[in-house]
Amino acid sequence: MQNRQTKQREKILRVLRETGSHPTANTIYKAVREEIPKVSLGTVYRNLKVLIEQGYVQKIPIDGMVDRFEAKIAPHYHLICEKCGVVQDFEMPDRLDIDKYAQTFSDFSISRHRIDFYGKCKQCRNNAIP
Ligand SMILES: [Zn+2]
Ligand SMILES: [Zn+2]
Repeated sequence: MQNRQTKQREKILRVLRETGSHPTANTIYKAVREEIPKVSLGTVYRNLKVLIEQGYVQKIPIDGMVDRFEAKIAPHYHLICEKCGVVQDFEMPDRLDIDKYAQTFSDFSISRHRIDFYGKCKQCRNNAIP
């Protein structure tokens, strides 16, 4: 028999796997609540933490905005709109192996890096008042 925690965790993971939108914990909470009405926001946060520790989910901290979450674990970059807050996956072709490159300048053992690209999404650019 499944316990309640597992059921909630699986639902959170399903929500994240079915969306490409990098939701906030609050958005995830609202989606989970439709199926599990008794869930609390605190429980969602706790389960997200466990899923991150287990390597199923990653957190995307964004300057000046609330954290986003995603189930896409493979390394990729993000395009972040400073106006509406949309977060898009960004597969940059021919990207340089920056970990190895950085390693050549340091005796620090580099395992990963994070780069976010901030700017304005297409929609915000099109809606801009001239
Ligand atoms: Zn935008
Ligand atoms: Zn992503």
